[in-house]
This record gives sequence, structure tokens and C-alpha cells, in this order.
Amino acid sequence: MNPKTFLKSAQSGKYAIGAFNFSTAEVLKAIVAAAKELNSPIIVATSENEGEFFGMPEAAALVGAWRHGTKLPIILNLDHGKSLESIKKAVEAGYNAVHFDGTSLDYEENILQTKAMVDYVRRIEKDYSQEIIIEGELGYLRGSSSVHQEALKIKQEDLTSPGQAKDFVERTGVDSLAIVIGNAHGVFAKGEERLDLGRLAEIKETLGEKVFLVLHGGSGIPEEDIKKAIELGIVKINVNTELRVAYKEGLEEELKEKPQETTPYKILALSFDAVKKVVKEKIKLFGSDNKI
Ligand SMILES: [Zn+2]
Repeated sequence: MNPKTFLKSAQSGKYAIGAFNFSTAEVLKAIVAAAKELNSPIIVATSENEGEFFGMPEAAALVGAWRHGTKLPIILNLDHGKSLESIKKAVEAGYNAVHFDGTSLDYEENILQTKAMVDYVRRIEKDYSQEIIIEGELGYLRGSSSVHQEALKIKQEDLTSPGQAKDFVERTGVDSLAIVIGNAHGVFAKGEERLDLGRLAEIKETLGEKVFLVLHGGSGIPEEDIKKAIELGIVKINVNTELRVAYKEGLEEELKEKPQETTPYKILALSFDAVKKVVKEKIKLFGSDNKI
């Protein structure tokens, strides 16, 4: 499986592939079931901590089994790797894509470290003759994957600058770039997250088809903004918080309705359905259904 082909098809076909996080087997199963029903390519992801909980080799093995069983292109991605150590762990476990998040570093240091990740990944690709997507990130992405009670305040200087994006891509050689255009991690209870579509258009104009543009914090953004962002060139959208909320609400409902129930797969049935429903809605919104 060459994962870049799927993002290239998304780029030319003007749709986006959802990247959905999981940290338990039934959430992964629900994501895959949604993709299978809608005949969609899919990216499944673990953060460093989610991967630590699940086990990265175990995640890779299970995703391999799902790929084999469903014949779907399922790309396994490390989300927000913060060090060469965790990137290496993921690649050695068999992940098909890695995201290095150097946004806590200053600009030059982010370039230096991202370039080191790219050099490492390119070497491994040759050794394993296996394509691996590498994603860098530029801009200041606020929030975390949860529901925030406070209002979101994004400053102009948080946003990715088109000139820096071009310089960053040229000097690091990343395949994909996560950008900040008004998006944030998590869902904000007060006020809407609106995207700066003008900024996105400028970034796309500057970078062209050289790089796959990625939007993090796909939860909680109005649908019309998501659709326009895809038209303007976003090809990968990360979704985590909405799945977490669906999972938790399903679980609470089940425990409340049947407090005597002790069979795990029965306790988890509503969570499974709720996660699957969210993933199906996102696949349709992103336009990746029937793209295999
Ligand atoms: Zn993210």
C-alpha cells in the first residue's frame, strides 16, 4: 500500500480524507466499520499517549488485520509526535504516516528538527521499500482534544504565514503540512470556530500541489467552513474530540440504563454505534465516500 496515492487522489478529486483517533480496539472497529459502509479511504491515528496506551506494535498489527479483512486502504498515522524517539517507535512498529509537531520550538529549530525527521523517514523508506507520509506543522494551534468551557481566542500571529509555509516546505521536504487558519483542538462551548479562508487560499496559492494541506481540530468547525476549506485544498482533516464525546455519552447512557450489565461488548454497544455515526457523518462531509 502506498499511502501517498490516496492523498494525491484526494488532492486532484477535491475531497479530504478523515484522520480519526483511537485508543481502544472498539473505537478503531467503529471507525473501520463506518469507512467500510461508505467505501471510503481512511486514516486512523494515535497520539503519543494513545499509542502508549494501546501499544504501537499492537495498533499496527490490528490495523493490518482490518486492512486485510476489509480490503480498505487504512493508513495508520502517529499524531503529534514530539520527538525523534516517538517517530522512530511508530515507524518501527509499522505506521504508514507520522506527524512531527515542532510548533513549541522557535521557527528555525522547528525546521531543523523536522528536517532531521524527514531524513530519518526517507532512509527507512529505502530500507523497507515502504512509503511513509511525513507531516510537519507550522503556526500556533490552541486547545486540546476535549470540550472547552472558555471562549476560543485566536490571534493573527497564531496563523500560518504563507511565506513561512513555503520556506518550511522547501527546507524540510515534508509531504504534508498542518496549518493554523482559525482551527483549534477540541470543541468550544462558547462561540464558533471560524476558519480564515482567505488565509488558506493564500497558502494554497503559494504552495500549489507540492504539499498535502492538513487541518487539525476538525471537531467543532461549522460544516460550510469545512466544505470551503476542502474546495481550497485541504486533503486531510483530523477528528478526535467529537469521537471522544460520542464514546463517553454512549457509555454513560448504557451504564445508566442497565446498571446490572457486566458484559463488556454489551456495555460498549452504544459507544460503538455513536462513534460509527460520527465517523459516517464526517466521511460524507469530507466527500471521501465511494472513492475506492
Ligand atoms: Zn492535532
